[in-house]
Amino acid sequence: MRVRFWGTRGSIAVPGPGTIHFGGNTSCVQLTTDNDDLLILDCGTGARQLATELMAQGRKAINANILLGHTHWDHIQGFPFFTPAFVEGNSVAIYGPEGSRGPLHDVLAGQMEFTYFPVDLTQLPAAITYHDLTEGVHTIGGARVATQFLNHPAMTVGYRIEADGVVVVYLVDHEPFSDELWRAGGVPGRIESILHEGDRRHAKFMADADLVIHDAQYTPAEYPAKKTWGHSPYDYVVPIAAAAGVRRVALTHHDPSHDDEFVAEIERNARSLALRQGTGLDVFCAYEGCEIVLEPHSPLKPFIADAPYQASVAQRQFHILVVDDQPQMLTLIVCALEDEQYVVRTATAGLEALRMIDEQLPDLLVLDYKMTGMDGMAVMKAIRAKPETQSLPVLMLTGMADEPSTRAGFDAGVTDYVTKPFSIPQFTARVRACLTRTQNS
Ligand SMILES: [Zn+2]
Ligand SMILES: [Zn+2]
Repeated sequence: MRVRFWGTRGSIAVPGPGTIHFGGNTSCVQLTTDNDDLLILDCGTGARQLATELMAQGRKAINANILLGHTHWDHIQGFPFFTPAFVEGNSVAIYGPEGSRGPLHDVLAGQMEFTYFPVDLTQLPAAITYHDLTEGVHTIGGARVATQFLNHPAMTVGYRIEADGVVVVYLVDHEPFSDELWRAGGVPGRIESILHEGDRRHAKFMADADLVIHDAQYTPAEYPAKKTWGHSPYDYVVPIAAAAGVRRVALTHHDPSHDDEFVAEIERNARSLALRQGTGLDVFCAYEGCEIVLEPHSPLKPFIADAPYQASVAQRQFHILVVDDQPQMLTLIVCALEDEQYVVRTATAGLEALRMIDEQLPDLLVLDYKMTGMDGMAVMKAIRAKPETQSLPVLMLTGMADEPSTRAGFDAGVTDYVTKPFSIPQFTARVRACLTRTQNS
């Protein structure tokens, strides 16, 4: 079975430089069984990109099973953009708990009502079926799927999915039933010692799972002020999963106010807490694009992200080299960039710039087009000719806004081309865009 995360954020989508690593899209996880059955856990904004990928595969027909934990906005907002539902011949089976305000169909129709969305739910050409769930065991897409209610301020179910000899449990939007996890006098670390029946059932529901995907929106310090909001701190998730004999936990539904740096810190703390449980439990924070292949009884390697966390563009310290032969312009640019906390070096001629790049490769080169001696284009040519600077981002400054000059700039390999006069906020935004784009490509 393959598991892929398309949305890891809770409450609301938060795209931007601070969430590039762990992701800004709301809940959506794709499970693909060895028989190619498709189960989609929640349909937050991450579902849009998943839909694009499914359509791009060019299958004859897409048969999707969408399993909604509940119908809060952040779990259904991607559905109107789930393009396979707009294609005749496809089928979409939607599962979820019946909301207190009516059946699943009516709730989903509500967000596509004319006031909010131009296409009515009944107009979708795919064959769409609705399945209101309570607790029980079901067969969905060839998998055995058990459901159990979670502790959240809305009817919410967790899913235990068994297929291909592995178990994945999805427990998103849930908070502890009790402040105290362990019964006084009981042996901590065992399911029987869990104080509250609800928490005990919760532990049993995830017992021996290969992967548990669990809400961990808050830190232990934040949780007391957010009690009854329906989300967990990781110091509840880790011990309960360890007691249940779970092999690996993906913490998800990251709080919208937590940037990459913060979530990385949660991950470090949760991992060291897991280590102290002594059960071999592996814990990580789910990130957009993360894919895990689960095989029965395979030895568990500690989870290592494909692309390890790097401080996001918002927090990293970037080095910028500015090359301009006009002292006034140079001063203006340096002040603007230093205000934005960049480390700035300057050169007033092309050859000097090339020598400085050789000494220390900057993250970005801001290059004037028209300079006496070696001009910007000649510098570009020299830079692109060397392998070590082939992909160095270059923002070219120029007084020439005509089409041929602009094209010549891009043909020479500039990343962005900014024409004078420019405003400082516009210039710094373009610098930021250059860095963001190239850091993530
Ligand atoms: Zn949520
Ligand atoms: Zn919710």
